[in-house]
Amino acid sequence: MTGSLLRSIALALASAAFFITAGTSGASAQDGPTRAITHLAGDVYRFQNDRHFSVFMVTSEGIVATDPINADAAAWLEAELDSRFGQPVKYLIYSHDHADHISGGEVFADTATVIAQENARKHIVENSTPTAAPDLTFRDAMTVTLGGKSVELSYLGPNHGDSVIVMRFPEEGILFAVDVVTADRLPWRDLPGADIDAWIGSLKAIEAMDFAILSPGHGRVGTRDDVAPHRRYMEDLRAQVAQGMQQGKSLDEIRQSVDLSAYKDFGEYDNWLSLNIEGMHRYLSEQAG
Ligand SMILES: [Zn+2]
Repeated sequence: MTGSLLRSIALALASAAFFITAGTSGASAQDGPTRAITHLAGDVYRFQNDRHFSVFMVTSEGIVATDPINADAAAWLEAELDSRFGQPVKYLIYSHDHADHISGGEVFADTATVIAQENARKHIVENSTPTAAPDLTFRDAMTVTLGGKSVELSYLGPNHGDSVIVMRFPEEGILFAVDVVTADRLPWRDLPGADIDAWIGSLKAIEAMDFAILSPGHGRVGTRDDVAPHRRYMEDLRAQVAQGMQQGKSLDEIRQSVDLSAYKDFGEYDNWLSLNIEGMHRYLSEQAG
């Protein structure tokens, strides 16, 4: 079978599992946050708290969890993991240092070794982020193995921040990637703290990785084929803003001249395009010194 056929099958299985479990494991009370656990593939599941998502892997020797999201969400997840799987969290891996994804790590710190990229640890300590500080850090790559299963952690350089890692579950063909890529959704607002050119490089590196299912930190589950459109959007945005600047246009004039209607079906297009343009303009202005 070809790689793409395998990917299609894996996606079909993942989609089916998603729809089967979404209705039953579902959302909590209408006033509270929407929390859910859905099966992705093999031993890997997706955890939702409102607009934030992480993943976890269940093994015979315990659970490898990723972003705890916040303390209440983490406490909910811990109780669900105990009742569904009867296993403690042995490893807790942060996708990057941002508090909206990794608060609440202390919930798991009594049983788990906490892992993050070395820059993430620095920011977490400096900012007193309300979570457990990482016990273990790495710079470029690390493989975590538990119960005969593994997850490969890769730092692809700066992009959305300077501590983002992606996590590949090789047996399941799943990539968990937070804030560096989404499926059919614009990057967040005015691209704060972003290194755009390095970010485009990170997306190319992700496109070259071997996985079928893309499980992002926000938005729907996708496939590896969702990465290239996201990268092309960033490249087109960069090129058009740069062209406007070369023509001596003001930011407002650039907002009028940019045409990214090819991406109008992306999520947040109406809300964030103007902010994306502003962020790109700021980045390119800083680059120009
Ligand atoms: Zn972030």
